[in-house]
Amino acid sequence: MPSNAMEGPEPLVADHALEFPGGYTRSVGPVIGRFLTELRDGRLVGVRTASGGVLFPPAEYDADGEAVTDEYVEVGPGGTVTSWSWVSRPRAVHPLDRPFAWALVQPDGADTAILHALDVGVFEPGADPPKSLRTGMRVRPKWRAERTGSIKDIESFRPDVTMITAPSRAEYRLNAGRALTRFLTGISEGRFLGHRCDVCGKVYVPMRGLCPVDGVPTTEEVELPDTGTVTTFAVNNIPDPRAPEVPFVSAYILLDGSDISLLALVAGIPADQVRMGMRVKAAWKPREEWGRTMENIKWFEPTGEPDVPFDSIKDYL
Ligand SMILES: [Zn+2]
Repeated sequence: MPSNAMEGPEPLVADHALEFPGGYTRSVGPVIGRFLTELRDGRLVGVRTASGGVLFPPAEYDADGEAVTDEYVEVGPGGTVTSWSWVSRPRAVHPLDRPFAWALVQPDGADTAILHALDVGVFEPGADPPKSLRTGMRVRPKWRAERTGSIKDIESFRPDVTMITAPSRAEYRLNAGRALTRFLTGISEGRFLGHRCDVCGKVYVPMRGLCPVDGVPTTEEVELPDTGTVTTFAVNNIPDPRAPEVPFVSAYILLDGSDISLLALVAGIPADQVRMGMRVKAAWKPREEWGRTMENIKWFEPTGEPDVPFDSIKDYL
């Protein structure tokens, strides 16, 4: 211990809390008053400084101690995060009961930033800040429905919406091309039309106008029956407007005489009784409802014929 250390009793220490449980009423003056009044109305205002900047939140004097002007400037509400600090486990006194950031937010048009809570939508206690939280992040205030003229009129800042999930509908025109147009014209007449390749002899239904094996154009038209064999299938438990019920079966069907299978519904049999090798036939809608669309065929139904042996379909799976 140094020889010149002060002798005597330990310094007295007492813990105090300065608290106004019932609220502490004070007048705020014209500048802060204007700020809070605008907050109550859902607006952010700053004040023009003598040097021409915009001080937000406004104060009577700028950082240089210069008195501000009496010109108020609406700023934001959008703003940019200039700095932040993550609170992974909020305490009772914090404005949010889930992880959030204390952030400095500089509203558009302001030259200074306000410290406020930034809610980035993290709910798991103790969670790390999301990667999207960064300096430069664009944010907006989330206003309380009931505002009183207090900084708490802003519940928190929240990131700008950059992604949405919304019902959507796109209208578009599909150009079927010559080959598919010809195929759908056949379907509109109740016929399955395909092409046979000159080189390999394979038959393609629907035809695409070329053989994918040989890369040559195909032109020889063949008509196939509306019967075929299930090669593979899937049982679906998610409703589909085209399917009569759930569960339903979608299957690859190899039309008799075709060398590629086409995807269609299978119905008229419980889903758990559909089999690879099962023989099926197209169930057409009433003829007066036909158009140039595959919807002319409701689905394929079992013919009742014996199943086809696996060996004869294994090359088409
Ligand atoms: Zn070919």
